[in-house]
Amino acid sequence: MRETVVATVGLGANLGDASATVRAAIAAIATLANTELLRASHLYASAPIDSSGPDYINAVVQVRTALSAPALLAELQTIERAAGRERPYRNAPRTLDLDLLLYGDAHISSPALTVPHPRMQQRAFVLLPLAEIAPTLVDAAALAAVQDQAVHALGSQKLGSDSNLSRQIGI
Ligand code: AMP
Repeated sequence: MRETVVATVGLGANLGDASATVRAAIAAIATLANTELLRASHLYASAPIDSSGPDYINAVVQVRTALSAPALLAELQTIERAAGRERPYRNAPRTLDLDLLLYGDAHISSPALTVPHPRMQQRAFVLLPLAEIAPTLVDAAALAAVQDQAVHALGSQKLGSDSNLSRQIGI
């Protein structure tokens, strides 16, 4: 197996049962080939930014993967498609949105992939869950700059030891 990298993925959904969609997506990420789920944040709720519809449900996960960054992105897009995502127009409400936020400390700039994700530092719905699972990756100044954005952790959605997801991914 090639060398592994710790990658960070942001999840968001705001159509249908968004919490269930995000949980299922985390479970799907946990089953990707050559990939191990390391940590998953709680679920968070956030008001739509540059988008419309109901509040988003967000989470951030970290994986250890032997997949290349483009291969991981392709797998994430397969999971998005399986969730029935359509893109009728830019920033339309979406069933599921998966972003590759970080891929180790790689800087990637290709037509299909920009890493670190260019907007992650401006989004509280990324920085708060990321700070929960990997505080050293979040700059305090960046966190302070987004504190006015409406995001809160869903305490009742905690992935407790008795949840299906916990059993599936062993957290
Ligand atoms: P979105 O509509 O926000 O999900 O954007 C999806 C498009 O962004 C796809 O065409 C991807 O190839 C591209 N993209 C570029 N960088 C990234 C990234 N870091 N994570 C996810 N998608 C990305």
